Amino acid sequence: MAWDDEYDVVVAGSGAGALAGALAAASDAPAAASDGLRTAVLEKTSLVGGTSAYSGSAIWLPGTRVQERAGIGDSTESARAYLRALLGDDGNAAHREAFLETAPELVEFLERDPAIEVEWRAFPDYFDAPGRIDMGRSFVPLDLPLERLGELAGLVRPPVDRDRTGRGHAPGRPLAQGRSLIGRLLLAITATGNADVRTGTALTDLIVEAGRVVGVAAMTAEGPVRLRASRGVLLAAGGFESSAELRALRGVPGGAAWTMAPDGANTGDAIAAAMRIGASTGLLDQAWFCPGLAMPDGRAAFTLGFRGGLIVDGTGRRFANESLPYDQMGRRLASAGDPFYLIFDSRSDGLPAISIPAAAPEEQLAAGLWHQADTLADLAAKTGLPAGALASTVERFNGFAAKGVDEDFHRGEDPYDLYFTGGKPCLVPVDRPPYFAAKIVLSDLGTKGGLRADPDGRVLSGAGRPIPGLYAAGNTSASFTGPVYPGPGIPIGTAMAFAYRAVQDMRRNQS
Ligand SMILES: Cc1cc2nc3c(=O)[nH]c(=O)nc-3n(C[C@H](O)[C@H](O)[C@H](O)COP(=O)(O)OP(=O)(O)OC[C@H]3O[C@@H](n4cnc5c(N)ncnc54)[C@H](O)[C@@H]3O)c2cc1C
Repeated sequence: MAWDDEYDVVVAGSGAGALAGALAAASDAPAAASDGLRTAVLEKTSLVGGTSAYSGSAIWLPGTRVQERAGIGDSTESARAYLRALLGDDGNAAHREAFLETAPELVEFLERDPAIEVEWRAFPDYFDAPGRIDMGRSFVPLDLPLERLGELAGLVRPPVDRDRTGRGHAPGRPLAQGRSLIGRLLLAITATGNADVRTGTALTDLIVEAGRVVGVAAMTAEGPVRLRASRGVLLAAGGFESSAELRALRGVPGGAAWTMAPDGANTGDAIAAAMRIGASTGLLDQAWFCPGLAMPDGRAAFTLGFRGGLIVDGTGRRFANESLPYDQMGRRLASAGDPFYLIFDSRSDGLPAISIPAAAPEEQLAAGLWHQADTLADLAAKTGLPAGALASTVERFNGFAAKGVDEDFHRGEDPYDLYFTGGKPCLVPVDRPPYFAAKIVLSDLGTKGGLRADPDGRVLSGAGRPIPGLYAAGNTSASFTGPVYPGPGIPIGTAMAFAYRAVQDMRRNQS
């Protein structure tokens, strides 16, 4: 068997999970009496970071020294109570315990590296359940000055606004949020001297010898390569959110054009490669959902933090608390069915919500995705919504706003609802023309179903046995959270924790 390059560990993908796994592999591990392992990070696109680079970089790893420093009253026990209340115990208890046990150790490992600096940031947990921390328990990386990254800065995927619309983000500014997380991990990995970050290298297949995954086949601009992975292959190459075909096959609501993953990045390659060698899958119809603002390029912008306005379906009626955490609101959209409009008025300066990327009102209006009218009746005519229903919905909503109580959907009663308004009411009357209707669609931050893996990230075969040498984390794997999104930073926190555990397993079994 001829190899183009030989490594101990090959990691497919370069999101936060992939890079946390790569750092754990490439670093010396004194406790395991193991030196850093020769590690390759394979990234299909020319840029590192995937959706993780677009993210707000909230990391939900509970019960660690970060929350202790912040004095927010978080603990492993309260996080366990919270997850148990939301997910129950069936089928996920072993993963939950592995995750909870790993969080403090992983954070200690990360913070040992001078490149990794994080702090707790208020962002409420998403459900009113026992063990919740009202102001949240997730943490974020500190901004990263460009000069600390040097030439590596050019490798990090730009912010989503810049990547998709060419706007926003003045060059020269420090890397923030997801870009800081990716930049910091990249810096730390590079400093180990044990890792190659190979962009423009797409995993195509897994190479198996005597029932064990021993390497990968990948495609580069120069042609195919075969890379040996003597300890293991970690698949952390995102989900299949950008594949219209796979979404249709698996019944994922929404659309490939409306997902938030970078263009062409996450098309399920790693999941498909593992399935071809007998890996099993789960949760394939699920995603981390969110409302999306329809954008002129045919795509959608992740929309959250509604400070005003109300959302109606095609009947002209509200169907949910618009301020719900975005995955819950996305699930309401999925069951209500198209079309949806956010109705707002001139009280707000543009959209009364955060959209990522940001929307330019004049472009939205020109594209026919926003409508403007001096009366609700005209707005109904322009959108095709039933005029009578729209008028009575707005009248009823304005009554709730006057009373400060949403009798229908309890908007404004949960700490999450008020997080984005800075404590001000989010029930704001819609009575100051001109009126606007903005088209809303069902978007997502990525699919969350994929390869079934055990609590050590070992990919399971159809018979339920680990496939030797093969591991998965992040959206390539089926999330133990099922159809629930417990709090900010769960996708990235769980991706990092299971990638880290996968590497510990590789070291344990073969050192
Ligand atoms: C605006 C926004 C804000 C968000 N905020 C948060 C937040 O604060 N906290 C949080 O936890 N989550 C957040 N999310 C969700 C989160 O970013 C993603 O769910 C998570 O980053 C997915 O991680 P991943 O490693 O599975 O995939 P990604 O980060 O998308 O990485 C996958 C990478 O694999 C590469 N790849 C794909 N196929 C191959 C192949 N064949 N070979 C090699 N490479 C391949 C892709 O190009 C990509 O770079 C946010 C998402 C968005 C869009």
